[in-house]
This record gives sequence, C-alpha cells and structure tokens, in this order.
Amino acid sequence: MILYTLYRNSYIDIKNLESTKGITCYVNSTNRCTCSCTFCLRQTKEMLEGNTLWLKEEPTVQEIIDEFEKYDLNDFQEIVFCGFGEPLMRHDDLMKVAAYLKKRKPDLKTRVNTNGLSSLYHQRDITSELKGLIDTVSVSLNASNKEEYLRLTRSRYGIESFDEMLDFTKKCKAYVPHVVLTVVDIIGEEEIHKCQKIADEIGVTLRVRPFEE
Ligand code: SF4
Repeated sequence: MILYTLYRNSYIDIKNLESTKGITCYVNSTNRCTCSCTFCLRQTKEMLEGNTLWLKEEPTVQEIIDEFEKYDLNDFQEIVFCGFGEPLMRHDDLMKVAAYLKKRKPDLKTRVNTNGLSSLYHQRDITSELKGLIDTVSVSLNASNKEEYLRLTRSRYGIESFDEMLDFTKKCKAYVPHVVLTVVDIIGEEEIHKCQKIADEIGVTLRVRPFEE
C-alpha cells in the first residue's frame, strides 16, 4: 500500500475509496528506520508481513509518482510523507516526489512526520533541502530528556540522539513554515508539561496526539 488514508483508526488504500475528496493522503515509502521504538506500530500492530502497510519492496520515485498520476490533486487536503518506517531515510527520493507534487499543484500542503534523525543518517544537514517542498515538519519528541528518549526509541545513534533531534527541529525552522514537536498523551501531565517547555524554548508548536495501540 503506497498511498493510504486513515479512517476510524484503520489504514485504507486510497484505491479502495469511492471518493478521495478532502482526504489526507499518506505516502508509505519505506519500512526502514534508525530507531526501534518500544511503541512502534511496526512492532505492535498485526506484525509486519501480515500488516498491509508492510512493503515487500520500496516503491521507486516513479512508482510513487505513477500512483499520484491517477488522482486529482485538488481532492487532497494534505500529503503526508509518513510511512511505516522513517520517511526521511529516503529523503532524496521523497524530495523528488514533493517537487513533482508542488509542480503539479504549488499550493498543495505537504508534511513529513519524522524522528528527526535523518541528517545523522545522511551525514549532512538535510534541513535546507526541505525549503519550498515541505510545508510542515512534525518531529517525534517522545520524551523530555535524553535518557527517557533513548529508552523509548532505542535509536541506533545512542544517547546523543535526543539533542540531535532537537537540533534538526531548530534548523527546520529556517526552511519550513510549520515545525511541530509531538508527544503521545499517555506520557502523563508532568512529562507533557516539560515537553511543552522544550517546544516553547525552541519556538515551535507541541502537539499531543492520542496513543494508537
Ligand atoms: S521512529 Fe517511528 S517508525 Fe521508527 S521505530 Fe520509532 S515509531 Fe517506528
């Protein structure tokens, strides 16, 4: 499933919709990730190959574009590069897809949901390359401190991951109109309060989203 939408907590291939009017369209491009979060849907939801979001092969840029060619982009409220894994592991490819979308419809809203660690993965600062292609970057903050962050995400980059993720978030502000940090609602009020402080210090919005089992 490459293009999907969410309806009542289920993933629906947009091919199976009667109408795509007004939907948020998610792009699923990879299963890979630099983290292994304890709460990741890849580990908790109908494991892997049984899950329709699990890709047997990553779609090429052309295959993703070919899927979009089937639709009227005016229908979509927003395009979200999200996926089952970390979308920015395919940063170069997804920026090509975003460029194609913006060429076809310059005011189409685009978003990336990311763990914020992909500059580390690509071994260069990728934030400037989001300019003009991505309207919103939503970074998973997960926790208010580096120890808890690492415990939850089990990031391959170790204890420095938290600071790297915050640095990525700060850098995005120069190139992306909307930058958001997210946490799930089950972390408790005190932790949410601390995360709010971090978001305020950086000057971005904190979004508290419902935990999805
Ligand atoms: S960053 Fe996202 S995709 Fe990666 S392991 Fe964590 S929840 Fe899963």
